[in-house]
Amino acid sequence: MNEIDDIATPRRTKEIIRRHGFSFKKSLGQNFLIDQNILTKIVNAAELDSTKGALEIGPGIGALTEKLAQVAGAVTAVEIDRRLIPILQEVLEPYPHVQIEHADVLEVDLQQLFKANFSEVSKVSVVANLPYYVTTPILMKLLEEKLPLEHIVVMIQKEVAERMAASPGGKEYGTLSIAVQYYSEPELVCIVPNTVFIPQPNVDSAVIRLTVRDRPAVDVKDERHYFDVVHSSFAQRRKTISNNLKSRFAPEGGRERIDALLEQAGITPSRRGETLSLQEFATLSNTLLEAGIQ
Ligand code: SAM
Repeated sequence: MNEIDDIATPRRTKEIIRRHGFSFKKSLGQNFLIDQNILTKIVNAAELDSTKGALEIGPGIGALTEKLAQVAGAVTAVEIDRRLIPILQEVLEPYPHVQIEHADVLEVDLQQLFKANFSEVSKVSVVANLPYYVTTPILMKLLEEKLPLEHIVVMIQKEVAERMAASPGGKEYGTLSIAVQYYSEPELVCIVPNTVFIPQPNVDSAVIRLTVRDRPAVDVKDERHYFDVVHSSFAQRRKTISNNLKSRFAPEGGRERIDALLEQAGITPSRRGETLSLQEFATLSNTLLEAGIQ
């Protein structure tokens, strides 16, 4: 082994895997990065420096963790697969400001983890090559828990990234776009070919950066109601917003009442949910609530 090789090279990755007798688990979304350029793009997008912290989800054998450790003041990496913990401890040994946690990130008390591990840094970003089978639950947990995050820079499935960043009117725009954009400003950083992973995934990938907002994109009286209205409006994409809302809010919201409230909110009842902006959904939810429809 060449001591100066980075982890994210095909040679070093294969060497680590062979030496530890590691076998990939498809069920855990294990596709490890072996490309320095992509790692650099991911890390640069997070705008880290020694005053900031990074939370990595799913460090694998530490390819990205190593790069984060080289720029950030504190790094915590949460890995579900017990077999990877001794490997991470070995390869990240030169970086004492890296904490490795063996846990399912969906089960972790993140508020507590932030207090314990990031009290010394000014800002924290999540940076990860996410396991694709749980991308949405992980991102929604990060956003809904209202953690004090600066950016979330993640490698995810390309089509999911496109849905997150989509504008009203297109077929990619839906409940995921609205949920993500409510809490953050998404930007597509780059599209990634599957040749940069071992093993190669069957889907295209993309890096997306979510800059977390200090306050939500729109003012709503009740978040739960807002997202209920959004979900109901997309229940059947081919139906008009009026029909979708009527199915959800009957019997208090009969057709005439719903249509009148839609008009009051400035929305033509024959429109489809996919044409409404986040602001229009906010006005609609607030109008329905004021009318006692919930
Ligand atoms: N960061 C590494 C890289 O880029 O080479 C590995 C990325 S791999 C796509 C996803 C990693 O997430 C795997 O190491 C997998 O074991 C881990 N993982 C899967 N589900 C997880 C969960 N619920 N919580 C924490 N880690 C998880």
